Order: sequence, then structure tokens, then C-alpha cells
Amino acid sequence: MPASTAAKDKRTTVTERPKKTKQPPAHPESLEQRYLKLLEAVPDAILEVNPHGQIMLLNQAAERMFGYSREELLGLTVETLVPAALRGRHHEHRASYADHPQTRPMGSGLELEAQKKDGTLFPVEISLSPNWRDGELNIIASVRDITERKRAEDRIRAIREQFTVELSAKNDQLEARNREVERANRLKSEFVASMSHELRTPLHTIIGFSELLAEEVEGTLNAKQKRFVGHVLQDAHHLLELINEVLDLSKIESGKLELQPELFEFSDCLEEVLTGARQAAQSKNVRLENRSNFAAQLYADRTRVREILNNLLSNAVKFTDSGGNVWVESSVNSGFLEITVADSGIGIAPEEQAAIFEKFYQVGGDNRRIREGTGLGLAITRQLVELHGGQIFLESSPNRGSRFTVTLPLAKTPAFRSTVDRKQS
Ligand code: ADP
Repeated sequence: MPASTAAKDKRTTVTERPKKTKQPPAHPESLEQRYLKLLEAVPDAILEVNPHGQIMLLNQAAERMFGYSREELLGLTVETLVPAALRGRHHEHRASYADHPQTRPMGSGLELEAQKKDGTLFPVEISLSPNWRDGELNIIASVRDITERKRAEDRIRAIREQFTVELSAKNDQLEARNREVERANRLKSEFVASMSHELRTPLHTIIGFSELLAEEVEGTLNAKQKRFVGHVLQDAHHLLELINEVLDLSKIESGKLELQPELFEFSDCLEEVLTGARQAAQSKNVRLENRSNFAAQLYADRTRVREILNNLLSNAVKFTDSGGNVWVESSVNSGFLEITVADSGIGIAPEEQAAIFEKFYQVGGDNRRIREGTGLGLAITRQLVELHGGQIFLESSPNRGSRFTVTLPLAKTPAFRSTVDRKQS
């Protein structure tokens, strides 16, 4: 027969196999036999002990667990299975159980051990139950070998201990590293402070003499010379700005910058900053508008508030193309003055919005961006706002403009306090 036909035949046979019908067992098991099977199937050793301590009954698991045959164990005292060292006092435990016979674990809270025929000890859990028969108290002991469980617990304990040791070593390393970082940070701040000072002194000389040259005090310059001096001045100013900002930031970060709060007219401060920004705005044909109507005093560091406004306004003008608008709004909200510097400029993509508050971050890769500035302005602005107890928020979409909102607490402003007090009383 060809192989394929054979396979086919085989398949046919399988499909056509007659259904099995249930056959009644030849000898039906009695209930007693079923209980016996149940007893022999359990993995725990089960022993029945008479009032004299003799083993009367046991299951297969007891034979396996202790290494004796059933015949050897029957009639022996249960003390045979107790570790030799504790055997002497075991009959006392049996007697005390007989005084209060109830189902309970044996030696609760203690680490129990049992002894095999070959003398090896192994950890056990024992539960005892009374079994009254013909007026006599027999005890049923159910013994569980917990060697594996103990081993697993020991392993877990060892792992945990090792983990604790490693963790504390890592902690020590981390602490040492933290101390190193703190030291390096302090050294960096000191270095930045002294370098900034060293750099600023000659820079002031460069700026001073370049200004004198540009003003043509000592004689007229030709067009090329004027252009050259202009470049020197522009870059020297940029360098000075960078140095000042690095110094400011390092002071803030090392906690050395202390605010000098005072009471001042917010509108005057804002007008000063707007005046400063107007020239740049006009030369770019950007409309600058003051829409702020907060006409009260503010208790804050005036110089730093100017710095905050100046950073936001100069950015707004810088990143707005000719014909665009820049304006400032203000409002009072839940005890805070909210100042918004808004523009209709190039905007900031959502994925860049968090990063621009980081140090030295400038949105790049776009030819429309004006790559001047230091990338430190917003980092400093945020720190200054937070030092005042306020926050800075940004809403922006590319090509539609940006809104930077700064909140400054009014709670410390005496004028505000007295208004609140009046309202509350
Ligand atoms: P920079 O000195 O470069 O202005 P900032 O920290 O002030 O540094 O700003 C970081 C970057 O955030 C800027 O380089 C610019 O890419 C972006 N940015 C800030 N303000 C605006 C704005 N009003 N419109 C568009 N982009 C802005």
C-alpha cells in the first residue's frame, strides 16, 4: 500500500474510533477505602498516638518523611521522632496537652525540628488534634516538613541582607559624590565670580576707549574706521552682557543673591523699561504698547523686577518681525499681580517651550531666528520670579506669537495687605 494511502487510512481509523462508554468499576470502593486513600495521598505525615505516647497509626508520608517502615514505627513512642536532645522532656509536653486537649499548632512561636531514622534533623510544623476513643485521649499529629520553605526564607533573608549591605555602600558612595559635587559647585561659583570680575575690568576699558573713538573726540574717523569701532563696541557690549548674566546666574544658583525688596510704583518701573525698549522696537518697525492698568504700589526688588520685564520685552521685540506688535498687560488674580508680555512674533514650537527656560538654550535650526543674545535671559528671569515667590508661564504658537506671564505675590505689599484686611473686617 502506498504511504499516502496508509496515512489516509490511519486518519480514517482515528475518526471512526467507536465512542467509549463508561464501565462500572469491577469492585466498588467502600467509604473506608476512599478515606484511606485520602489519608495516604496527603503530603503531610499523619500519626495517631495513644495516651502512653505509642504510635498507633500512620500514613505513607510519615514513613517517607522519617525513613522508617510502617512496621518499625508502630508501637514505638512518638519521642523516637523527637530530636535526641529534647526527647527527655517531651512526655511533659504530652501531659500538658492532655490537660487542655484542643486542635492547635504545637510549640507556636518556636522553631520545631524532628529527627529521621538516620539521625538527621529537619524543620517541621506540627498541628495537634484530640481524638477520643473508648474514653481514652489519643492525639493526632500532622507533621509538615518545611525544609524547602526554610531554605527559601533563608535565601530571601540572605539576599535582603546583601541588598541592604550593597544599598548602604551605594548610599555612602552617593553621599561622597554629593559632597564632591557641592564642593565642585562652590569652586565653580567662586571661579565664575572672580573670572567675571577679572574680565569686566578690561572690558570696561575697551568699551570706554571705543566710545571715545566713536565719538571722535580725538579726531574724525573715516567710514571704515567708524564701522570697525562700531563692531568692537557691539561685541564688547555683548560680552559684558554675557559676563553679567553668568555672574547673576551663578549668584542665584549658589544662593548668594538676596532680594532687596522695597515699595515702588509698578507703572513707573514698567514705563522705564518700555522707554528703554522703544528705540529697538522703532528701529524694527514693531509697535510697542502699554496696556497695563495696575496703578498701585508693589513690594518687591525693583531692580530685579526691571530685569525681569526687560528680559521679556527685549525678547519680544527681538523675535517679532517688522510690522508686528508687542504689548504689556497686567491684572490682579488671587493675591498675585500677573504681568503678561505678549508679542505677535515668530512664536515657539510646543516641544521647545520647556527647554527655553534652561541655561544657554536658544531655539536653533531656523534661519528666521536671530542668533544674538546669550540664552541665559529666561533662565535668570525664571529664577528671579521664583525668588520673589512667583511663577512664569508661557503660551505660544509658531508664527502667531508668544505670551509670557509672570506672577508676583501681592501678599507682602503693605497697600494690598491693608485692602485685604479692610475687606475681611
Ligand atoms: P536669548 O539671550 O537667546 O534671548 P533667552 O533665555 O532670553 O536667551 O531666550 C532663550 C530662547 O527662547 C531664545 O533664544 C529664543 O529662541 C526663545 N525666545 C525667547 N523669547 C521669545 C519670544 N518672545 N518669541 C520667540 N522666541 C523666544
